Amino acid sequence: MSTDGGTPRDTAPGAAGRGDGRHDGLEAEASRLDAADPLRAFRDEFVGAQTPLVYFDGNSLGRPPKATAERLDRFVREEWGGRLIRGWDEAWMELPFAIGDRVGRTAIGAAAGQTIIGDSTTVLLYKLIRAAFDAQHAADPARVEIVVDRDNFPTDRYLVEGIAAERGARVRWIDVALDAGVDAAALAGAVGPETAVVVLSHVAYRSGYLTDAASLTRIVHDAGALVVWDLCHSAGSVPVEADAWGFDLAVGCTYKYLNGGPGSPAFAYVAERHQNALAQPIQGWMGAADVFAMGPEYRPAAGMRRFLSGTPPIVGMLAMQDTLEMIERASIEAIREKSVALTGFAIRVADELLAPLGVEVASPRDAAERGGHVTLSHPGMRAVTAALWAQDVIPDYRDPGGLRIGLSPLSTSFAETLAGLRAVAAAIPR
Ligand SMILES: *Cc1c(COP(=O)(O)O)cnc(C)c1O
Repeated sequence: MSTDGGTPRDTAPGAAGRGDGRHDGLEAEASRLDAADPLRAFRDEFVGAQTPLVYFDGNSLGRPPKATAERLDRFVREEWGGRLIRGWDEAWMELPFAIGDRVGRTAIGAAAGQTIIGDSTTVLLYKLIRAAFDAQHAADPARVEIVVDRDNFPTDRYLVEGIAAERGARVRWIDVALDAGVDAAALAGAVGPETAVVVLSHVAYRSGYLTDAASLTRIVHDAGALVVWDLCHSAGSVPVEADAWGFDLAVGCTYKYLNGGPGSPAFAYVAERHQNALAQPIQGWMGAADVFAMGPEYRPAAGMRRFLSGTPPIVGMLAMQDTLEMIERASIEAIREKSVALTGFAIRVADELLAPLGVEVASPRDAAERGGHVTLSHPGMRAVTAALWAQDVIPDYRDPGGLRIGLSPLSTSFAETLAGLRAVAAAIPR
């Protein structure tokens, strides 16, 4: 399926074809909101945002910044092409730490020396959950449980099951409603003296539920356990204060709101107090104390280097720098403010245009409990999604019957949001 607008049509999203004159109120409101949006100019910094294509999937794969095209070209010609193997010594060996620190500073509230760019989210979660379980279980053999919720992202749940099988641990499941997420009461009921580690998503991938990460972290700590936060759906969209909220460990995607490109490597955060006490299970030469000593046995490096395994994916970590630069210019607080306005507008449009067609909002209505996307549910949404993709309106689909509207604050306009929701309304079977 095409994910590119392709033909340049000379109309703004929603300006032509879709309006029928009866909803001028919404069109006028969308243009008012766009005109008053202090971040509106950022949209022009993205490839493809000038076409009428409606992109509702920046929470799965963000659009590329225009600056990235130049950055990648320059990298191939000058750095890779010009410096060749010397590039490692001159710059690349330090990039996982330098860009990691920038993610820490710009997107997750982490002081330097605690964040790296590493492997995929899945692999980094595996390394950190297992390291945390092993340390906790060694310190107190009664701690045999890993706690995770039934609606966490599949990779998180599958990893926990796998680690439990490897280490003889038990999985303790938290049940959650599909239109909400893990709250304090549910978590408090699941943790105790047998808990080693808890794995939680800051923003639920399905409903968009935004947890109170500071409070939940305290609940885990009060039970004597460690928490691994999955920040995939919050980094770059919702403010995170890893240090101030007392996080132990966290992992997050860079190809969602950080626009790092398909399969760009994830970041891992390990609070300084834990770093030298944790042993991760994929012992490779890049995590060793002296990388080029090539010694007879593995000795982990001090600090964050020990969480690396093999050769860092340098090409994959280039693009995210352009979005980090934009977030620094915009500020994560302003991004969150626009995100709340976009999701609030989407919910109001859904109430007006979609509720009469039997569509329900399956995300929190309270902005304080909502991340950057909204899920709309209707039994026909799988077919609706396929029909929309064919007409360059691109949400994504999550069972059961959930159409996800991801609203990436730097690249999405209110007019685009309205145009896309009108297209959803037109595609609902009646
Ligand atoms: C997108 C996402 C992942 C993806 O993990 P990968 O290893 O990059 O495939 C994991 N967890 C959550 C919560 C996600 O939203």
